[in-house]
Amino acid sequence: MTRYLEPAKEIEVFGEYDVVIVGGGPAGLAAAIASGRNQANTLLIERFGYLGGTATASLMININGFRNQVEPDSVQTIKGIAQEIILELHRLNGLGKSPYEQKEYEIEQGELSYSYCVDPEKFKFEHFQEILEQNPQLKEAGAYLAETPPLLGIRQTRFIEGEYRLTAEDAIEGRRFDKVIAISSCPIIHYYGYRRYLEHEGYDIPYCCLVPKLVDNLLIAGRCISSEQQPYESHRSMAPIMAIGQAAGTAAALCAKGKVKPRDLDVSLLQQRLIEQGAELRR
Ligand SMILES: Cc1cc2nc3c(=O)[nH]c(=O)nc-3n(C[C@H](O)[C@H](O)[C@H](O)COP(=O)(O)OP(=O)(O)OC[C@H]3O[C@@H](n4cnc5c(N)ncnc54)[C@H](O)[C@@H]3O)c2cc1C
Repeated sequence: MTRYLEPAKEIEVFGEYDVVIVGGGPAGLAAAIASGRNQANTLLIERFGYLGGTATASLMININGFRNQVEPDSVQTIKGIAQEIILELHRLNGLGKSPYEQKEYEIEQGELSYSYCVDPEKFKFEHFQEILEQNPQLKEAGAYLAETPPLLGIRQTRFIEGEYRLTAEDAIEGRRFDKVIAISSCPIIHYYGYRRYLEHEGYDIPYCCLVPKLVDNLLIAGRCISSEQQPYESHRSMAPIMAIGQAAGTAAALCAKGKVKPRDLDVSLLQQRLIEQGAELRR
């Protein structure tokens, strides 16, 4: 492959921060909130003019994975910032009905079901009508436009190799880890071609999946954590992704404040802080 070497250039330093979060998807926004709440001077960098990542840009409006979709589903495995967002959307009357079969839990009591659907913004309706007016062939074909996302959603991209790589067995057997920082109870959405429901209340995601093997002062948040493909098909759902983001942001703030490298962080301190701030770790 022909390669081109870009010349080095000087770049003005924009600012100095304790924690810099790159990407404002579900993981990044939870990470930024968590980092800020933990007293770190935080910068969130997002290439688009809005937050939400795939959820907003690709109109993935179902936030899945607050607990198992089928029994055993008595444990709500995701709380914290992800839960706060759903409760706030509920308060603002911004939730629709989830299309998934699921047992409904009492949101008024703060108990979340497996999945929630966010109502698309109603003002877009007018815009779609306009598109139809300008494309009479669509109208003639009887087509109607429900939504158009500005970004094509790609389900799976790269994983960063961390100190531990989550395995298919971890997910299927519901493995528990001492260093748990989040739990996923979502089905494995494509398990060799079918939707495999978990037969347990969720598997743990340990902190070491967020710590890159080779790079210091960096934490991985979101869908790129160190994992095999099958568990990824579960924890890539937005609720667990936000829990992972909350853990990464909290860890980053603790590292910055305590002047320790992420791989040297006392995970029990992180767990204690996450629990204090509403996360579910089953401890
Ligand atoms: C087709 C499809 C359907 C899905 N359906 C569902 C569903 O129904 N329910 C569900 O819960 N989950 C669903 N998911 C999964 C879920 O949407 C993703 O796994 C989740 O959004 C991952 O969150 P993230 O924050 O890790 O990454 P992303 O959502 O990809 O966010 C990454 C963010 O980083 C930004 N970014 C990237 N590069 C840069 C850069 N260089 N500088 C600055 N910013 C940058 C991006 O703009 C983006 O905002 C679906 C995914 C896809 C693709």
